[in-house]
Amino acid sequence: MKLLSFTQRDTPDLLRVGVSADESVLDLSALVPPGGPNDLSPMRRLIGGCTLRELAYARDKAPAISTDQIRLQPPVPDPSKIMAAPVNYIDHQHEMNESVHVDGLGVFLKAPSSVLAHGAIVRLPYLDRRFDQEGELAVVIGTRASHVDPDNAMNCVFGYTPLLDMTMRGGEDRSTRKSFDTFTPMGPCLVTADEIEDPAQLTLTCSVNGTVRQNTGVKDLIWSVPRLVAYASSVMTLLPGDIITTGTPAGVGAVADGDQVEVVIDRLPKLNVSVSAAGATTCPTRGADRGPVPPPVVTTLQERS
Ligand code: MN
Repeated sequence: MKLLSFTQRDTPDLLRVGVSADESVLDLSALVPPGGPNDLSPMRRLIGGCTLRELAYARDKAPAISTDQIRLQPPVPDPSKIMAAPVNYIDHQHEMNESVHVDGLGVFLKAPSSVLAHGAIVRLPYLDRRFDQEGELAVVIGTRASHVDPDNAMNCVFGYTPLLDMTMRGGEDRSTRKSFDTFTPMGPCLVTADEIEDPAQLTLTCSVNGTVRQNTGVKDLIWSVPRLVAYASSVMTLLPGDIITTGTPAGVGAVADGDQVEVVIDRLPKLNVSVSAAGATTCPTRGADRGPVPPPVVTTLQERS
């Protein structure tokens, strides 16, 4: 099932959940009531409280709303946390000239307030710093979990979504460089785990202005999805709706005002966002010449092969 969060034009402050259908959204508000800005989002309540059978039953009775009547929101608009794998593909470790990967770094956090919907605008905060796209497969957690075994970790996975881990390059802390508002686009929807037997079978492509920069099989993750989920749960108690993003392959590169970025993962609907530098200022921190050394501004797939 393809689940999404949305608002309706006449009630822009009320979050709702629905199922993506052709040209329409099946509104699940009868099963999960809409929520205001101070409520736990309907998606988090759905993930924590509904079975797939209940969802399917509600979907079959749900009223359809035309997609032109809705505004899409991030699939989970209010995750309690976004955990991310720093270097989880060998080819990305090489291009960043990193001496260590995930097993030397663990996971880091991105601010939950950095989430952004499909079709929205990534806002670059500074004129004098480099910002890169990192296309990634993200996992949406389904249950409260602590210290789960890798063999049981997939039972904690509710679904999957494409995610962009937008990044400022430099020596500042990762939590700063990757947590600016709008720096975690996700969606358009999350696909429930029953539709993806094995995430390692998925492929991921990330393009900027139609040119492919990143292309990988998820099987090439250094820490697989179950290993990463198990590890993350040994550090922080996972809650329904938490996001774990699995890391990016080689091909990161600078993005600029006016760019269009697309993440395509087979079996999942595509994620598209645009980039704007409107209102950007001079960076107040001085990490520009420190930190991991990224590849030249843009490396195409052809140049790397
Ligand atoms: Mn990343």
